Amino acid sequence: MVREIVTYPAEVLTTPTQTVDVVDREIRDLINDMFETMYSAEGVGLAANQIGVPLKVMVIDTTPKEDAPDLKVVLINPEIVSAEGKVKYREGCLSFPGLTVEVERAEKVLVRALNEHGEQVDLELEGFPAIVFQHELDHLNGITFIDRLKGWRRRMALEKYRKLIREAKRQP
Ligand SMILES: [Zn+2]
Repeated sequence: MVREIVTYPAEVLTTPTQTVDVVDREIRDLINDMFETMYSAEGVGLAANQIGVPLKVMVIDTTPKEDAPDLKVVLINPEIVSAEGKVKYREGCLSFPGLTVEVERAEKVLVRALNEHGEQVDLELEGFPAIVFQHELDHLNGITFIDRLKGWRRRMALEKYRKLIREAKRQP
């Protein structure tokens, strides 16, 4: 089922999510809804709190993005084991419709998480999939991409976003 995507500044986006205790049927239903919602919005990643569910679950599928390496994965209770390098990329976010901002992130991350069967998985991510993962991990920690900006860059991004919202509201 396609769910409604929560947009900033909803509280659920700025509050850290909770650890999943048991990967059960309910979680797998949530995962299915998250994939459907992400595909219908043409996104490449989605965190559960972006559909209003405050749990540490994310889905990623970079396949539709032609110039990126393919990664399709479900990550539950994910954490970064190690990170290296730095890379800057202009990111979008389904919870900030129309806004893109340039964010600096680690180039390579080693990730530990549970999969949809509740099994531990270790993943080494690099480049675009690593960027998407770090963006979604931030969501699960109640951090949005504008929080990665400082000072006037953050203020300008917020101002631009408010303007986009006002313009969207004016549409019939
Ligand atoms: Zn996002």
